[in-house]
Amino acid sequence: MPDTNHYQAGRHFLQIPGPSNVPDRILRAMAQPTIDHRGPQFAELTLGILEKLARVFNTSCPIFIFPASGTGGWESALLNTLSPGDKVLAFETGHFSTLWKNVAEKLKLEVLWVEGDWRRGIDAAVVTDSLSADKEHQIKAVMAVHTETSSGATSKIAAIREAINTANHPALFLVDAVSSLACSDFQHDDWGVDVTISASQKGLMLPPGLCFNAVSAKALECVKTSKFSQSYWSWTAMLELNQRGFFPYTPSTNLLYGLDEALNMLHDEGMEQVIQRHARLAHATRLAVESWGLENLCVNADEYSNSTTAVLLPEGHDADTLRNIILDRFNMSLGMGLGKVKGKVFRIGHIGDFNELMLAGTLSGVEMGLNLAGVPHNKCGVSAALEYLGKP
Ligand SMILES: *Cc1c(COP(=O)(O)O)cnc(C)c1O
Repeated sequence: MPDTNHYQAGRHFLQIPGPSNVPDRILRAMAQPTIDHRGPQFAELTLGILEKLARVFNTSCPIFIFPASGTGGWESALLNTLSPGDKVLAFETGHFSTLWKNVAEKLKLEVLWVEGDWRRGIDAAVVTDSLSADKEHQIKAVMAVHTETSSGATSKIAAIREAINTANHPALFLVDAVSSLACSDFQHDDWGVDVTISASQKGLMLPPGLCFNAVSAKALECVKTSKFSQSYWSWTAMLELNQRGFFPYTPSTNLLYGLDEALNMLHDEGMEQVIQRHARLAHATRLAVESWGLENLCVNADEYSNSTTAVLLPEGHDADTLRNIILDRFNMSLGMGLGKVKGKVFRIGHIGDFNELMLAGTLSGVEMGLNLAGVPHNKCGVSAALEYLGKP
């Protein structure tokens, strides 16, 4: 299965920060026969999913589900709310915020781009300053990535909402929660988010193929004045049919079976427990990194992500060489450094269906790999993590 040319026994460790491991329960749910997507059984499935999904986004707003990757969710959020030439404010927190900016530019939006060093989240003070300076309210939306999966920094969404309010600015608040949903606390309603974008393949434990838009009443109103044409991405068409449990075109029926099961699993564990589990495993990962004597790419301790940790290698050591050794010897995939940090960092995904022993295996693979790759480190990372995880 992995990109090696020799047989590897045992289970592959997929420790990239998404797509995450798909639990057997979800795989089995998806193996059910596909049904008529216009029949009564299907409507029941959809309505159940929408109710359970609302308790993951923490919203009473409509949530639209598209058969697409997360990138589709970005495009849909922009197309339904804005018009060509509109100004939007966005922040260079890393690779994913840069990709989202590129989507906005291709749609002919004018992006006010706040540059960054890929090592921290969004500075709320900059949001207040940028919006306060915009006296004529030309900025129509603020685009924020909650967890920047390339750097492992999680921005404070509630603080950014406060910053928008402090500036008394009417801009829409669009938030990418693709790798934070069901990993970190997320409150669509309480944080005053207008559109939350997410996708299936991270905390929701599904294969790639579904994206989501949770949409406030204010954002839904914007469809009426948008000068973009919407077809595949039209919220209006979705809204009406979703209320009866249907979709405007053929949905990903089997992925929806999987989603239903994923939501059952999340609510069986309890959303608070799910998030605490992620926080605990993320903390143990950082203890290991610190004990190895390696540097976390994210520099702000209060922005450490629950989903992924990006580890900087010392100058002169290539992170991709290390990842290849680990894949070849221990059958484990780690996340690569993306964009500007390619070769400089590797990322440990601790996201989705994941527990203590999986983390112990993951960290052991990294520690052995560091040794094989000749990366200078202290050999006590795994033990530091185990000591923390094994506490009564
Ligand atoms: C994974 C991810 C996406 C989605 O990317 P796709 O490849 O289009 O599914 C978007 N934003 C963030 C922060 C992500 O981690």
